[in-house]
Amino acid sequence: MPSQAAPTRPSAGRAKPPRTLARRLAAATAALLVAVAAAAPKPAFAWGRNAHRAAARLAESRLTPEARALVRELLDEGESLADASTWADENSRDIPGSASWHFVNVPITAERYSPQYCRDGCVVSRLAEFRRILADPTAPKPRRRMALRYVVHLVEDVHQPMHVGDRRDRGGNTVQLSYFRDEFTNLHQVWDSGILRVGFRNERELADALFDVARRPEARNWLGGDAEDWADESLKAAKKAYLMPGTNEFIRPGARLGREYQDAQLPVAVERLARAGMRLSDVLNADLAPPKKKAPAPNAVPAPHFNRDRRPSRGAAPAQPSPR
Ligand SMILES: [Zn+2]
Repeated sequence: MPSQAAPTRPSAGRAKPPRTLARRLAAATAALLVAVAAAAPKPAFAWGRNAHRAAARLAESRLTPEARALVRELLDEGESLADASTWADENSRDIPGSASWHFVNVPITAERYSPQYCRDGCVVSRLAEFRRILADPTAPKPRRRMALRYVVHLVEDVHQPMHVGDRRDRGGNTVQLSYFRDEFTNLHQVWDSGILRVGFRNERELADALFDVARRPEARNWLGGDAEDWADESLKAAKKAYLMPGTNEFIRPGARLGREYQDAQLPVAVERLARAGMRLSDVLNADLAPPKKKAPAPNAVPAPHFNRDRRPSRGAAPAQPSPR
């Protein structure tokens, strides 16, 4: 775990700074830490880098040859899907207004995701928009490249429970707590990277775990669905993630979490990422499939829902995509 700069309380009795000054220093440092934590935008802590990359590696391994070729053509020379997966976080500041594209705040008391939580745009609506651009062979290449980078990233983000569940705390960002020896973290960060850092030494180990999970027989049932379904799953996971292990008590600021929470939630975090990787490959295989030669036989009866989407969208009315 990273040892963040902790406000060291100067011990009383030492002759160094007078006690009052020491207290003031400690208070100022604590205030500064609180201010920094409060100012930190939520997406800056999206699934950590290893998590994004590992899920993208799983997705990449499942691409069809056609999708793989198109991914290679769209991305920069030498840029892998794993490299592309963190682009949206790395460039978040350069794309005004993009911070809110990475999550949706759904109260954990809600039954499920609903477009009412996405009125100003959120991960669900943005993902739909970027998928449209990605699937459009007439869209300019730089636009499709950016769309691809966002699709990879946002499919992963919507699987992070704390990018969906919320208790008016920015998805756990304001729930300051300690996790193992990390004294100054918060519930959101625990889910972005804390659990995974304790569980795995590096990206490779995490990726191996995701590949293992994806090989389980039940993993076949995870395919399909759309961003709204995935958000519903994340919401369900968040309802538990907000609780002290083995209780129905919400985790309070100042809580000390460790082994018990880790053991309960590591399998959840790993499975969320494995699902994300599997679904991402499905999304890319569908959106990057070569245009089908639809030449119905002269007497063919058209299928009843020939041009219908899989199901009516519950998503917010799509705004015009604003990325440049
Ligand atoms: Zn993100």
